[in-house]
Parts: sequence; C-alpha cells; structure tokens
Amino acid sequence: MSKHSARKIAKALGIETSGAVACGCINGVFFCIQNDAFTASLTITVKELSMEQLSDIKAYAGQNKKSLLLRDLQYDAPYLHIFLDSRYAALTAKRAAGSAASLAAFLQTLGIVSACASCGKSAASPAFYGGSVAFICDECYELQKEAAGNAMEERNVTGSYLKGFLGAVTGGAIGIIPWVIFGLLGRIAALSGFIMAYTCIKMYTVFRGKIGKAMIPIVIFVLICFTVAGVFASWFVTGLQEGYLGIGGIIRFIFSDLTITGIPGDIIIGLLLAGLGAFAMLRSAFYTASGKDLRISRDASK
Ligand SMILES: [Zn+2]
Repeated sequence: MSKHSARKIAKALGIETSGAVACGCINGVFFCIQNDAFTASLTITVKELSMEQLSDIKAYAGQNKKSLLLRDLQYDAPYLHIFLDSRYAALTAKRAAGSAASLAAFLQTLGIVSACASCGKSAASPAFYGGSVAFICDECYELQKEAAGNAMEERNVTGSYLKGFLGAVTGGAIGIIPWVIFGLLGRIAALSGFIMAYTCIKMYTVFRGKIGKAMIPIVIFVLICFTVAGVFASWFVTGLQEGYLGIGGIIRFIFSDLTITGIPGDIIIGLLLAGLGAFAMLRSAFYTASGKDLRISRDASK
C-alpha cells in the first residue's frame, strides 16, 4: 500500500521514489514523504532555521492545520518533521502530495533552500541507503561510501566458524535455562524453542562467528542438539518434582509416554519453534553479511 502511495505522491509532485518513500526537491527544498494507511510523515531537509523562520513555520502550520491535515511538527536540525493524519479528513496520497506542495511553497517564501544534511554545503543531491534517503553533497557521499566499504572489509576478515560454533554452543547451554524453569513450573513451554534460537544465534555473533554459508548448518546442528537436551532437562525436573526417585525412576517417567502426548511431541514443537525463530534471525544475519545495510548509492533503483 505504501509503495503504491509513494509512486502516486511522487508522480503528483514530479519527484522520485525509493521503496515506500517519495523523495526529491520541491521548490529547492528536499522532501522525503512516506504515506501509510491514513497517516503520513514528511521529513524536510531545511538546515539551520532561525528563530523567526521556525516561529513563522509554526504559525503557518497552526493556521493551516485543517487544510494540511497536520497533526504534529517537530524541528530537529537539519530536519523538519511533519506528521499528517486523518482527524480532519481521510488522508489520501493525493492530499499528502497537496500538503507537501503547500508546505514547499510556503518554505520558499521564507527563502529556505535545502543543503547537505551532513555538512551544510549547498549543491547536494539524494543518496539512497537500504530503505532511507538523505540529501548530501558529493564530498560527504564519498566519505560515507568509503566508511561503508571499510566496515564491510572489517566484517569479512573478522570472525571464524570455530568461534561461531563455540558461541552457539554457549548460547545453547544458556537456552536450556528456560526449559528447566518451565519444567519446574510444571509446564512445557514451546516458547523456550524460540528463546533457544535467539540465544544460539546471539552468542554466535557475540563470539564473532563468521557470517557465511556454513553458519546455517552450524546453527541448525547446535539448535537441534540443545533443543532436545532442553526438552529432556524440562522433563527431568518435572519428574523430580512429581516425586520420582533415582535416575532410573526419572528415566522411566520420561520414557513412559512415547506418543505425541509425551516427550516426542514436546521435541517436535520445540524444534518447530526453534526453527521458526532461527529462520527470522538468520535472515537478518544474512542481510548484514551481504552488506545490504551498508549499501549507499546515488541511484534510487540500486
Ligand atoms: Zn556535505
């Protein structure tokens, strides 16, 4: 919805889009507009505003809040954040574009022209990051690009699979704790599978494990071993609490029901949730590994 909306807004204002953001210069002022169901946010790069300019803008916003559908306005140099919503009328893409055009026209009367958000130099243009846009000059752009490249290089040389494996094992051992606690409370909570996935992958990165292809089998192997161990630990403490004595007695209790209502069912659910948790976390780990979070470009389509 918001991507479609961004395209509509961009078309109405003659600017471009990057993902769900419509962005570009309107009357020399750089706008980033995001429109989601009945709300919108406008981030305007205005550099340093004088006290008079800011109070003029606030007065204008106050007088026109109904026609602009304005909910709130915040100034955080060099950005002016404008929030629109639907309290006065349904905020459509067309209305969001109309408000942006009116604001741009007003800012022009105050002589406001956008400049580099980083150093304040004029002659800036948009730079696209993974999901966001900034108005910066060529010098700042090159500096940021170089910094991103260095960060990527550093990521590639640090870390090893062995360290990652040791980290995941440590995380797995920590992840057994919730199983024991839920076991003591007399219930098997599959949620522990989720927690286990988190502690395994978190510790993998804390131990500076290498983010690469082999990370997946390493994490999955450790997760399976420790989830099974967690379920057994949980049943073990439940057995203790129910008064089974001696290792032999507890083991007989654990294996007394080998159907889906017994320990096999818990293992299946535990693994399922661990797998779901791991899937979500590994996706973000690979996003980081691919360097997409560090990507910066002058081209909106890249
Ligand atoms: Zn700059």
